Amino acid sequence: MTENQQLAALLFPGVTQTVDDLEQRFPPRSLKDGARVTRFAPSPTGFLHIGGLFSALISKLNATTTDGVFLLRIEDTDKKREIEDGVSEIIKGLRAFGVDPDEGVMGFGQESGAYGPYQQSRRAEIYHVVAKKLVEEGLAYPCFCTEEELGAIREKQEALQLDTKGYYGAWAVYRDTPFEKQKALLAQGRPYTLRLRSPGSMDKRISFDDLIKGRIEMPENVQDVVLLKQDGIPTYHFAHAVDDHFMRSTHVIRGDEWISSVPLHIQLFKVCGFRVPKYAHIAPIMKEENGGKRKLSKRKDPEAAVTYYAEQGYPKESVLEYLLTLANSNFEDWRRANPDAPQSAFPFNLKKMSTSGALFDLTKLGDVSKNVISVMTAETVFEKALAWAKDYDPQLYALLSRDSLRSTAIFDIDRGGKKPRKDIAKWDEVKDYVSYFFDELFTVSMAELPDNITPDLAKDVLDAYTAAFDPADDKQQWFDRIKDLCAPLDCTPNVKEYKQNPDAFKGHVGDVSTVIRVALTGRRNTPDLYAITAILGEDTVRARLQKAKALLG
Ligand code: GLU
Repeated sequence: MTENQQLAALLFPGVTQTVDDLEQRFPPRSLKDGARVTRFAPSPTGFLHIGGLFSALISKLNATTTDGVFLLRIEDTDKKREIEDGVSEIIKGLRAFGVDPDEGVMGFGQESGAYGPYQQSRRAEIYHVVAKKLVEEGLAYPCFCTEEELGAIREKQEALQLDTKGYYGAWAVYRDTPFEKQKALLAQGRPYTLRLRSPGSMDKRISFDDLIKGRIEMPENVQDVVLLKQDGIPTYHFAHAVDDHFMRSTHVIRGDEWISSVPLHIQLFKVCGFRVPKYAHIAPIMKEENGGKRKLSKRKDPEAAVTYYAEQGYPKESVLEYLLTLANSNFEDWRRANPDAPQSAFPFNLKKMSTSGALFDLTKLGDVSKNVISVMTAETVFEKALAWAKDYDPQLYALLSRDSLRSTAIFDIDRGGKKPRKDIAKWDEVKDYVSYFFDELFTVSMAELPDNITPDLAKDVLDAYTAAFDPADDKQQWFDRIKDLCAPLDCTPNVKEYKQNPDAFKGHVGDVSTVIRVALTGRRNTPDLYAITAILGEDTVRARLQKAKALLG
């Protein structure tokens, strides 16, 4: 046995498997050529950032569009706290937007797939097998430095104003410790970390092709980074290389805060004898503020949390649609050309992603969402609004569910045509939208009456309409009846005629119907008034006309 092998045996007495065993236990996947295996690898902080959902979505799209696999791995090596809620929150968040993993962690304590465990805290044995091999090959060594010693090294480096600080080269005091000394320190039970013996060199650079950012060149890694902490738990960097190799990830798609770690990561893959995956680094989602751009912040921006969208009642389709507009600038053109196509049909391309950070804009999301909701069927709008109300607005839930056919009919007004109305962006706007259909939410008010209509004329209109109103009318009869009200009120049924000679009339048919509309709904702008009248029913219509008249004095 070489000294390195003896050292490895001392450090990992319990490890009996080899890297070859792992290669067999986690064999290359049999997927078709070009299939991508991608992953989302969050820490279970209990908070899913919209940027996290965004990169999960991009990862999933890469997998689904290539018949590959999208997996969820939980990176819990750092956090000592209880992670149950953290894991559930992430899964709930992904699921709410249909970005469910195909494989990996499926719920707290639940996994699916043959490449697990998918939670890093349960993979210690796997990391130790690889670490042992690195020690055997002289590529890793124990470092017995205490925090104080590391601090002293750093202070010296700062005093010398070195460009490169850290634990490397001659500063890596345990890099070349003779075996006998290592053995003695181990026998004393001295705590140690396991460090990489970096093969990097100060004067060499590495380059790689990032699938989003293009070719990137950086200095090689020279740091003897920690692979295993004193408690035997791996660092994120080492775990990433081991996990993505043995989970057979082909594409590592993640936030661009990791770009500076890529030289280290590539080096780790290489020293471990693993094939380097392809990297794609996503720029963070930005927000405009005071003319500048900044990252969407968990602390400052409620919209940074994915839970915000459910609370506000944005349909998941809208959020996904909007995230796709942020992901690929050609998505909107594609959508215009393919208004009915499912999102999965979009030819998503990593190369078309913003390299500097897409700008997130809630107003734009609202517009996208209005489009999305405008083409839903009335039944879908009813179901989704009801589901939202169940969680967030008990009163609305009670009102909508009282008569589901009537509620669906409300959402059906002016729906389905070539130019559908775009009134609703999110379900928390539904209450206002439907309010005048429910006496519980509605108070008759003539405040919205336009200035050009005098209260006297309004009163006359209401009197005349009350007398003429016949609930048995069809739409044409109803409208003819309103036109017939005009002449006796010194109004004209002909808007053109009014415009040509405004002084000859008190108003035109549009003004007449506005009075009726305001009396029945409190608003000047509503969907089809005939349909509204029909849903309200005779008693309510008459009661509201009566109250409106009383308000006019
Ligand atoms: N656990 C890392 C994070 O929370 C994941 C980085 C990666 O995807 O490689 O950002």
